[in-house]
Amino acid sequence: MTSAHPSPAAGTLYIVATPIGNLDDISQRALKTLTAVAWVAAEDTRHSGKLLSHFNISARFLSLHDHNEKQRAASLLQKLQAGDDVALVSDAGTPLISDPGYSLVRLCRDAGVRIVPVPGPCALIAALCCAGLPTDKFHFIGFLPAKSGQRQQVLKDIPPAVGTVICYEAARRVKDTLADVAAVYGEERELVLAKELSKTFEHFCHGTAASITAWLEEDPQRCQGEMVLMIAPPATKADDDINAVAQQTLKLLMAELPLKKAAALTAEIHGEKKNALYKLGLSWGASE
Ligand code: SAM
Repeated sequence: MTSAHPSPAAGTLYIVATPIGNLDDISQRALKTLTAVAWVAAEDTRHSGKLLSHFNISARFLSLHDHNEKQRAASLLQKLQAGDDVALVSDAGTPLISDPGYSLVRLCRDAGVRIVPVPGPCALIAALCCAGLPTDKFHFIGFLPAKSGQRQQVLKDIPPAVGTVICYEAARRVKDTLADVAAVYGEERELVLAKELSKTFEHFCHGTAASITAWLEEDPQRCQGEMVLMIAPPATKADDDINAVAQQTLKLLMAELPLKKAAALTAEIHGEKKNALYKLGLSWGASE
């Protein structure tokens, strides 16, 4: 479906990322945009007001949060259609990423209003790029449910081939979530907890659910602050056991052949086990 043509007189909606802790992370383009627009739609106008006054920007604010988004989106669309430019910001990071804004963007997209990203900080990307976990594929699940049973169900429903799983977590729940992760994925699953990104007490804690819990319990202050939890994909035994040259052959053959055939040929060439190669291929995302 293509969207409606924007009227040449209509304004632009800018989706502006703001810092997740360190104010130096604001971009020049974010500052220019926030200075130029007619309206800044903010999750919390007081919070964003302080951020903008830090940069000597005075803006006309409108609130847009989970409880008023539908109505506010309609009135912002009217302003955009009347020719005003609008910037959307959230309390921290990239709007719409576990933050309000979807209804507004959808409405504007359907109405043919131009929408422009002003990219910048995002906690999940900052966490992932320094975690030392696979980044070729990842699955972001936002916040897990608050109740243990529902949390475990969400974790169980994630297919193993999605790569690294990333979730936002509240400090008060992190130990319960770690226990649920161990219950669903096993005690040995490799995890990384990224805390207070871009702030003074930034820390990456790498280990199992038990070792990260032990680290958190060593000092009550460690159970405070903002956190991103990352869960490594299941370790494939085959990955460790199969020699690198055979893995390379399998990869090349998989590009041309069905997995079954590629695994059988690789097994013949390198004297590796066909089953192990087949499983390895599956763990790389090949279909059966
Ligand atoms: N829109 C934001 C983004 O782009 O990352 C996320 C907003 S969401 C409401 C807030 C959650 O993001 C926090 O509870 C925490 O899980 C994560 N988060 C935000 N800032 C963080 C930081 N500096 N360090 C670690 N996690 C952070």
